[in-house]
Amino acid sequence: MTKQYLYDFSFDELKDALKPLNAPRFRAEQIFTALHQGVPVAEITNIPKDLRAWLAENFNCNLPEIVTVQTSRDGTKKYLLAYEHPENTENGAKMAPKDLIECVLLNQNYGNTLCVSTQVGCRMSCRFCASGKNGLVRNLTAGEILAEVILINKLNTTPSARGVTNIVLMGSGEPLDNYDNVMKFLRLVTAPDGINISARNISLSTSGLVPRIRQFAEENTQVNLCISLHAPNDELRQQIMPVAKKYTIRELIDAAKYYFEKTHRRVIFEYSLMLKDGVPFNCAVGQAKELANLVRGFPSHINLINLNPLHFDSHAVLTPPSREVAMAFMDAVIKSGASCTMRKNKGDDIDGACGQLRLRHMEQK
Ligand code: SAH
Repeated sequence: MTKQYLYDFSFDELKDALKPLNAPRFRAEQIFTALHQGVPVAEITNIPKDLRAWLAENFNCNLPEIVTVQTSRDGTKKYLLAYEHPENTENGAKMAPKDLIECVLLNQNYGNTLCVSTQVGCRMSCRFCASGKNGLVRNLTAGEILAEVILINKLNTTPSARGVTNIVLMGSGEPLDNYDNVMKFLRLVTAPDGINISARNISLSTSGLVPRIRQFAEENTQVNLCISLHAPNDELRQQIMPVAKKYTIRELIDAAKYYFEKTHRRVIFEYSLMLKDGVPFNCAVGQAKELANLVRGFPSHINLINLNPLHFDSHAVLTPPSREVAMAFMDAVIKSGASCTMRKNKGDDIDGACGQLRLRHMEQK
């Protein structure tokens, strides 16, 4: 039988698991805090040795393995991480390849933002995104998402520098397609006895699963919601994001408004600028008004970013526009009355965007 992953346990669940041992209540606290600080079970020296042995014997206590690290000129670090595929741990066969995920640490003037993956692969199949190229392998558990944060936080914390201060759920995967695990992850990573990252410093990005956005609004968290819009109308959006065939932009904007009503957090719309066959696809000046009109009337913000093309796809149909085209589009959106900024492409000399490092690694194998 597969051992349960120790990082999946909430504080209360850990307390329950320890009950049969008749250990004092504070043991659960000690273990929870140490684990979340990145201390391996064998090194939690403030608990008895037999308790350490019992944990190691009965649970999977491994942080993910680091496969590669790429460091960009601007300091951005991209980690390719591996988890054992569940079938391998169940029958010991080691037949299936490891489950690869990636996360990116960005240094910002206000702190260090970690971009985490929520699924191995993705099933949304957005045309410009590397994460979905080979479909979904599996959901990550809450503890597996948390362990990305624990590992990278530990590696980047020094006596003079804080590790991870902000989190964005913008790595591989569609967070709202792995709803329950992602909600549990949010509870774990904001737990006062753990890493304790404030919900306001966390952003969840979705390709736009409308019913799930409404459900998320009901959770009453202070997490920032980002919605991948990428087109000013349904017809264009359907050409690059299959999910647009399921939900209209109107339904999506209504769900975003509902999120604002419930949480009072300003919603962010992400919009990657792209050319199709060399001509503006979603970033012609004439489309700026159409975009601004969509989001007018409630506190929201449009985040533009230039498409990050796949390094090894030389026949790409979708390519980034020039700086001039991008700036002209941004100016036109602002003139049409929407709040809008251009995000700097960080880490674009490495496989910066979603799923690119993982895809390259898999194709080279
Ligand atoms: N599945 C979620 C979160 C992951 S991606 C979502 O779709 O929102 C985070 C953002 O990066 C999304 O807006 C996504 O559309 C965008 N993205 C993915 N690949 C990209 C690329 N190559 N260039 C620019 N943006 C990209």
